[in-house]
Amino acid sequence: MRYISTRGEAPALGFIDVTLTGLAHDGGLYVPETWPAIDAATVAGFAGRPYADVACEVVSRFIAGGTAELARMTHDAYDGFRHPAVTPLVQLAPNTFVLELFHGPTLAFKDLAMQLLARLMDHALALRKERTTIVVATSGDTGGAAVDAFSGRAQVDLVVLFPNGRVSDVQRRMMTTSDRDNVHAIAIEGTFDDCQALVKAMFSHTEFRDRVRLSAVNSINFARIAAQAVYYFVAAVALGAPHRKVAFTVPTGNFGDAFAGYVAARMGLPVERFTIATNVNDILPRVLATGTYEPREVTPTASPAMDIQISSNFERLMFDACGRDPQPVRNAMAALAQSRRFRIAERALTQMRAFFSADRAFEDETAAAIRTTRRETGYLIDPHTAVAVAVAEKESRDPAIPTVVLSTAHPAKFPDAVEKACGIRPRLPDWLADLATKHERVTVLPADQRAVENHILVHSRAAREGVPA
Ligand SMILES: *Cc1c(COP(=O)(O)O)cnc(C)c1O
Repeated sequence: MRYISTRGEAPALGFIDVTLTGLAHDGGLYVPETWPAIDAATVAGFAGRPYADVACEVVSRFIAGGTAELARMTHDAYDGFRHPAVTPLVQLAPNTFVLELFHGPTLAFKDLAMQLLARLMDHALALRKERTTIVVATSGDTGGAAVDAFSGRAQVDLVVLFPNGRVSDVQRRMMTTSDRDNVHAIAIEGTFDDCQALVKAMFSHTEFRDRVRLSAVNSINFARIAAQAVYYFVAAVALGAPHRKVAFTVPTGNFGDAFAGYVAARMGLPVERFTIATNVNDILPRVLATGTYEPREVTPTASPAMDIQISSNFERLMFDACGRDPQPVRNAMAALAQSRRFRIAERALTQMRAFFSADRAFEDETAAAIRTTRRETGYLIDPHTAVAVAVAEKESRDPAIPTVVLSTAHPAKFPDAVEKACGIRPRLPDWLADLATKHERVTVLPADQRAVENHILVHSRAAREGVPA
């Protein structure tokens, strides 16, 4: 399986190189040259199988070579989840289900991709006798998921940058309480944007980048998308696929999760429709409605992981919708850089609308969804899930088709917003009870590139050992 850039000006690479590289050198995103297919009989055969087995079957379609190593990795990655089904379905109404994606070690759906990605990367690096230093800027969930997944990995040093004092206690502790010395939490005296700007600057500093063998694990990494396609298969099959179509409502910001569903559909999973659910940071509903992609200022909401106005993975959908022609993608990105917006051709828009509808939930609707769900079913949802529940309630749907709402975080990860909405403060699961008393290790640094680089140079094993020729 070869991977090509959405902008058509970077070399085609194999899966391992794409996983280790992240962004293509022409600024584009890597996608498989063709979508691999899974036939209906194979999909039907997923019924009742362990999650890790289905993950191996689905992800193997994106990788060249044998599956023995991959099977070991998927089992290792998902054995640590706190539910035997890994991503169980909970029924809320006659044909409405919640897909719980928060049974991983950091209670957020990012664990599903990050746990597998860490094993894939470490394995590939060990074969090549290479090390890497991963730097992640995080506003909360990604940092914790990366720390848990990469703690103790032999070939990888991980540095997470988070804005000092601007993440929740639970989120901070998930980043600062690892006892493994390949993990380094840095609290930056600044905002999340400062953290992101620092990472960008480090990637542009060639000498530093090469010395520490810098790499990234953000949501544009295709291995994360492949890992996320898995739970669409698992959920749909549990509800009768491939004999019956299912609809999905997906809370998303960066479009990673929704795009993973699209990938599952492209591979052959019969899906009725994907509904993109955003908070008031609604670039995706606006682009589908108007054909104009135009980022605005970010408004802080109760669902902070979706406070995004640049949906990176949208570029992948656009590439497909433009008949896989990189020229319109390049034009669009140039227009975006120059005039902060671009238009999508009518034909491409029609293609997108064949798969996706989209809507936003206002803050009062999100709070009402938390309250109403609790009152009517006794079930507590987090604010990100509530955005999707609110959108699912607003849309017109065929009552004969099951709707699956993706639940991306455990309510206890956002206790203040949940309590404010419904008066009940969700509690962390018992197995996380010691989080509040664990020893924290964190370095506070100014938002200064040189200070951060110097700190990383001291701790990166890749830098200390020198780069092999
Ligand atoms: C990251 C995140 C999302 C959004 O994921 P996308 O990659 O933007 O689709 C939604 N909910 C939670 C809790 C998250 O952590």
